[in-house]
Amino acid sequence: MRVIVVGAGIVGLATAARLARRGDKVLVVDKEPEVAHHQTGHNSGVIHSGLYYAPGSLKARLGTAGAASMARFAAEHDVPVEITGKLVVATGAAEHDRLRELARRGRANGVPVRELTVAEAREHEPEIACVGALRVETTGVVDYRAVSEVLARQVREAGGTVRLGCALRRARSGSRDVVADVDGGTEAADALVVCAGLQADRLALACGVDPGARIVPFRGEFFDLAPAAAARVRGLVYPVPDPRFPFLGVHLTRGLDGGVHAGPNAVLALAREGYRRRDVVLRDVVDSASWPGLWRLVGRHLAPAAAEVARSWSRTLFAASVAALLPGTTADDLSPAPAGVRAQAVRRDGSLVDDFLVRTAPRQVHVINAPSPAATASLEIARHVEAELDRTTAALA
Ligand SMILES: Cc1cc2nc3c(=O)[nH]c(=O)nc-3n(C[C@H](O)[C@H](O)[C@H](O)COP(=O)(O)OP(=O)(O)OC[C@H]3O[C@@H](n4cnc5c(N)ncnc54)[C@H](O)[C@@H]3O)c2cc1C
Repeated sequence: MRVIVVGAGIVGLATAARLARRGDKVLVVDKEPEVAHHQTGHNSGVIHSGLYYAPGSLKARLGTAGAASMARFAAEHDVPVEITGKLVVATGAAEHDRLRELARRGRANGVPVRELTVAEAREHEPEIACVGALRVETTGVVDYRAVSEVLARQVREAGGTVRLGCALRRARSGSRDVVADVDGGTEAADALVVCAGLQADRLALACGVDPGARIVPFRGEFFDLAPAAAARVRGLVYPVPDPRFPFLGVHLTRGLDGGVHAGPNAVLALAREGYRRRDVVLRDVVDSASWPGLWRLVGRHLAPAAAEVARSWSRTLFAASVAALLPGTTADDLSPAPAGVRAQAVRRDGSLVDDFLVRTAPRQVHVINAPSPAATASLEIARHVEAELDRTTAALA
């Protein structure tokens, strides 16, 4: 089967490599000059364990399986990886119940979670503030750019093509094939798979597919901890997440480079692919502002949204979030690090699409919502997309 895969982020490349390995004739196109240029190259680099996700959801199933397959893949292909384990810490009595609920979810998802006393938590992280903690040993850090490069190489080695600097403009499915307008001409194939991250909704519409939601971009800003503060953190330390939001809260990650990164926060971005606060793309602002779901979402979460914006502008407030985990941290301990922009699908009614979302049409599969832990889960998402692709093409036979 001839398949065009749009997007050379980790989800598109994992899918393309899988299809190429089984013998499909694969063409990958990405509008950027390098692989992993957007979310895949701007994330925390964490292999998530599968702890947080609603049991039975795609995130839970593919995330938990993905943690194992990603760690194995990295080790097999000499990609930098460390399975460090992580601590989730409750810093106030009110978080005890949420911590317990998190442990229950984790166990339901097959994640090896241990509930720790404060003394046990301190054995892992002596300097961290906590009144209770969970320990998960299957969490780690990996270089997702390097994983993407290996996957691109696998596509080429299996006879496929990765064409960078080539955007998909639109596509139409016909009875015998799908025809895609890409930079420089048209390409015909038996099927089209679109894994376009921050542009997923727009490309679905441009291919005649209803995405069922719109992508709203949330910038996540990071800071590096100064050496003295970093020396007080051994591994990965997370707060108890607020269950109303899809983001995990400002956390501490000791990266593969040995440095400790704090973040990310979550503020509405004025550019889908702009990484500085001053980046504004009119079309992106208009698309976000004209989506009723965004206003409903903001209306429902006005106070936390305002707090995120304030924290984005004030390093002192950001330091206070870090100090909740690592007491004594001040603004002087933080230096800005590159930010990322998350693609989060939001429905018209203002609800967030919590799970991974894949939409299909004849000869087409669109990955619409692939937020964290989609990098972790990418090899398993690829398996899921392959099954969806086979289902849509079999239906035509
Ligand atoms: C700040 C932040 C922290 C995160 N931390 C983690 C983490 O620790 N662990 C984890 O598992 N996940 C994490 N994530 C999530 C993870 O990075 C994403 O879920 C994952 O990278 C999604 O991959 P993707 O391939 O779907 O998207 P992307 O990597 O964004 O790739 C989409 C690609 O599509 C291309 N494209 C778009 N439009 C077109 C077009 N018209 N024609 C051709 N190509 C096009 C883009 O150029 C891009 O390369 C984080 C994300 C962010 C932003």
